[in-house]
Amino acid sequence: MHLYVHVPFCVRRCSYCDFSIAVRKRIPARDYVDTVLTELRSSHATIVDLQTVYLGGGTPSLLPSEAIQELLRELSPLFRVPRSDFHVEVTLEANPEDVTPDNARAWRTAGINRLSLGAQSFDDTVLQWMHRSHDAARIGAAVHALRGAGIENISLDLIFALPDELHRDWERDLEMALALRPSHLSLYGLTIEPRTPLDRWISRGATHAPDDDRYAEEYLFAHRRLTADGFAFYEVSNASLPGYRSQHNSAYWSGKAYVGLGPAAHSFDGTTRRWNLRAWEAYRRAISEGRSAVESEETLTEEQRELERVYLALRTDQGLPITARDRPLPPFTAQGWVEVRDGRLKCTPEGWLRLDSIVNDYDRYDRATH
Ligand code: SF4
Repeated sequence: MHLYVHVPFCVRRCSYCDFSIAVRKRIPARDYVDTVLTELRSSHATIVDLQTVYLGGGTPSLLPSEAIQELLRELSPLFRVPRSDFHVEVTLEANPEDVTPDNARAWRTAGINRLSLGAQSFDDTVLQWMHRSHDAARIGAAVHALRGAGIENISLDLIFALPDELHRDWERDLEMALALRPSHLSLYGLTIEPRTPLDRWISRGATHAPDDDRYAEEYLFAHRRLTADGFAFYEVSNASLPGYRSQHNSAYWSGKAYVGLGPAAHSFDGTTRRWNLRAWEAYRRAISEGRSAVESEETLTEEQRELERVYLALRTDQGLPITARDRPLPPFTAQGWVEVRDGRLKCTPEGWLRLDSIVNDYDRYDRATH
């Protein structure tokens, strides 16, 4: 079983972000920990044998380290193996400015053994445009502090395909990231989400949406550059050195069950997906009044499950097993976007650029031929 804990607090909203967050100057840590632990104890799911725990957000690193220690202390009896073994992957998402040597040591003592760092860029102008609260120098300092505390499994998030007028040097940013020797990189293309500051800037002509050519060029460049340094893209947006794939995210992509705690967190038991109230206050009130925090749920039909199976398989390097049903092979395999390897259909980097349309083509092909 896999557990996600959503920590909704941020000190400000980044220009591109539409996540479920609560912007707070002071983090209500006591309230948050009590509420999440109450949800845990009243959970509809039986939470046992945890193989991974992921503290995501928002900005989980804004929680005081004592709050993180308390959360993990309460969760540790549910781990598959004793906590002291550090064999359960426990990830904390952190913003660089929160990673001090003291915090890093406290997180490590609490059981954190994987750190996902929201670097995004090594260009201060770009970081300011994104409304990030760190500068480029903080990223290297954070990695150094984590290593000093014994946390070696470090992932960096970077955003690519930014508007032309920023003159962002993607190649330089990748070199700066690789120089820090992370074990994992997550690369996300900028998307324009409704009602974000970025969406408003674009509506009034203050900036432009990036074009598809830049997106494709930077995505393919990253594949070539990271592969040359020993990284393998094991999912459309994620690359790791051998042995450092995210076990937590891999569980999502292979359709395994997971439980989510906290506002907006999702849970999935293999057939039914449930999600909590998005807003922190609404979630907190529901739990404190003894009500369920689940906002809604959907049970997937067989058809939806099949489409999801195809989509999840094609977004990873595991690919989709070829069955007798796939003979002859779907026509798009002739276009160089999907190749046949080890008895499976696997997307090439060019294919991952067109993942949605490939999944739709596969679905149409499947319906037409069976
Ligand atoms: S820190 Fe992350 S969650 Fe918070 S506003 Fe920025 S992108 Fe969104």
